[in-house]
Amino acid sequence: MTVSVVIIGGGYGGISLAKALDDAVDVVLVDPKDSFVHSVAALRSLVSKEWAERMFFRYDGLLTRGRVVRDRAVKVDAQGATTAGGQRIGADYVVLASGSSYPYPAKMDVDDTAEALTKQAVTREQLASASRVLLVGAGPVGLELAGEITDVWPDKEVTIVDVADEVLSGAYSPELRDRLRRQLRRARCPAGPRCSAGRGDHRRPRRERSHLGLDHSRRRD
Ligand SMILES: Cc1cc2nc3c(=O)[nH]c(=O)nc-3n(C[C@H](O)[C@H](O)[C@H](O)COP(=O)(O)OP(=O)(O)OC[C@H]3O[C@@H](n4cnc5c(N)ncnc54)[C@H](O)[C@@H]3O)c2cc1C
Repeated sequence: MTVSVVIIGGGYGGISLAKALDDAVDVVLVDPKDSFVHSVAALRSLVSKEWAERMFFRYDGLLTRGRVVRDRAVKVDAQGATTAGGQRIGADYVVLASGSSYPYPAKMDVDDTAEALTKQAVTREQLASASRVLLVGAGPVGLELAGEITDVWPDKEVTIVDVADEVLSGAYSPELRDRLRRQLRRARCPAGPRCSAGRGDHRRPRRERSHLGLDHSRRRD
C-alpha cells in the first residue's frame, strides 16, 4: 500500500517537499492560492512590472503523480486535514508548511494571481506618481523597499521612520549592521537619493533625527 502525505501550504517548504515525495508516495498539496508566490521578489515587483509577472508560478504541472487542492485547511488531525470547502483529505502523514504572514506588500493578502498583480500595479502607480514616500519601519523590509524605490526613482525623497535609534534593530549580526552603516554613509551624497531614518516621535526636533542614505550601486538583476 502506498503511503499518503498531505502537505498544508504550497510555499517554499511545501512545494519542495511535495516535489521530493511525488515519485515515491501519494501527495496532496493544499493551498488557497492558485500559484506559488516567490515572496522574495515582492518588493521589487512593486517598482517593476516585469518582476511582478515573474513572481507567480502556477501550481499546474508542479506534480506528476500527486495533486493540488486549491483550498484552505481549517482543521488537521493525525488522520488528515479538512478544508474550508468541506473536503476531507485523509493521509498517513500530515505536514504543516503554512509558513509566515506579513502585511501586504511584503506578502500577498489575496489568493488569486490576477488580483495580486492588479493590486501591485495600483501600488506601483501610486509610488510612481508620488514625489515623497514615507516608510514606517527601518527593518529589513523597510530598508529593502527604500532601496527598490530609490533605485528606480532616484529623485524621490524616501523617509523611513522608526522608533528605534538604529536601523535594523533586532537579532542581526554587528557585521551586517556595520556594512549597512558604511553603505548608508557612502550614499549620503546631496545629489543622490535621500533616505532618512529617525524617531517616529513628532515631539523630537527634526534636526535630532539621524539621516541615512542607501547605496544602490550593486543592484541585483
Ligand atoms: C519581502 C520579503 C523578502 C524576503 N526575502 C528573503 C530572502 O531574501 N531570503 C530568505 O531566505 N527569505 C526571505 N524572506 C522570507 C521567506 O519569504 C520566508 O522565509 C518563506 O516564505 C517561508 O517559506 P514557507 O514555505 O515556510 O512559507 P510561505 O512561503 O509563507 O508559504 C506558506 C504557504 O502556506 C499557505 N497557507 C497558509 N495557511 C494555509 C492553510 N490554512 N491552508 C493551506 N495553505 C495555507 C499560504 O497560502 C502559502 O502559500 C522574505 C520575506 C519577505 C516577506
